[in-house]
Amino acid sequence: MACFYEKGLKFTCQGCGYCCSSEPGYVFLSETDIKTMSEGLGLSRDKFIDTYCRYVDMGAFYLVSLLEKENYDCIFMNGKGCGAYEFRPLQCRTYPFWANVMESQETWDEESRLCPGMNKGQLHTKNEINSALNSRLKAQPLVIFK
Ligand code: SF4
Ligand code: SF4
Repeated sequence: MACFYEKGLKFTCQGCGYCCSSEPGYVFLSETDIKTMSEGLGLSRDKFIDTYCRYVDMGAFYLVSLLEKENYDCIFMNGKGCGAYEFRPLQCRTYPFWANVMESQETWDEESRLCPGMNKGQLHTKNEINSALNSRLKAQPLVIFK
């Protein structure tokens, strides 16, 4: 079925830092994200969660998200950008090809008003975009039941 990104979409991060800061938000982690990040930082799973994560109350269960600083910057934001770039979570690696952004041309255009990297630079094919979407579907965030 044809979709609005049939011919691909351009995106190259411009390093403005907006998506890692500025507003309250969540970076939800899967078990794979937690493993990759804790190993990358040389920490045990528990120490990584205690130091860098928070439990977000979703009603019947909790999800695990990265902590934010008081100014809403991600805990890993430093003066030069992401301090965990090589092992950043899938949610970060797949931006802006998220399901809510890829719903339609309108949702893509709306998001592009916030992210100056969208519609610029490298062309990502439809297959690459679908692969990013599928990877998020397969890697569900860690759910901790109450
Ligand atoms: S908002 Fe866009 S350009 Fe800015 S850091 Fe995030 S991905 Fe990069
Ligand atoms: S982990 Fe890195 S890329 Fe992801 S929100 Fe935090 S600073 Fe941004």
